[in-house]
Amino acid sequence: MSDDHDHHDDHELRVSKIRSGTVIDHVRGGQALNVLAILGIDGSDGEEVSVGMNVPSDRLARKDIVKVEGRELSQDEVDVLSLIAPDASINIVREYEVVEKHRVERPDVVEGVLSCPNAECITTGGEPVTSQFEVLDDGVRCSYCDTIVREEIASLIDT
Ligand SMILES: [Zn+2]
Repeated sequence: MSDDHDHHDDHELRVSKIRSGTVIDHVRGGQALNVLAILGIDGSDGEEVSVGMNVPSDRLARKDIVKVEGRELSQDEVDVLSLIAPDASINIVREYEVVEKHRVERPDVVEGVLSCPNAECITTGGEPVTSQFEVLDDGVRCSYCDTIVREEIASLIDT
């Protein structure tokens, strides 16, 4: 009996709707917190956020889902999300209706979002140079020092 009840609650959480804002669906399992980091959301501003982690999915074995009330993502934010959540779908919701729905597309270049891990890089030396990375199929490359990062791209996010 209590097992059934728990399962029901879980389902309710997954499908609960937001009034107006953004639902980021089909995030790769385990990346939801990195999605929040990219969006600069840490809860300190009182944002209303729901996160589902490692929920079963048809398209991915396990997925995360992030719902942000009262905020519509910009194209720049969506572009950067594509680096860690290439399969994500973005649903813009207004008054409980999905008014826009799109898949993320990987940009050719991201500027001012990631910090270069190379301490010798001109972008990390306190110079007024905005970081710039080219997006490769399997990672990103610093446009200034050619450092390539394939793993842990989220750890470079300049928050
Ligand atoms: Zn660099």
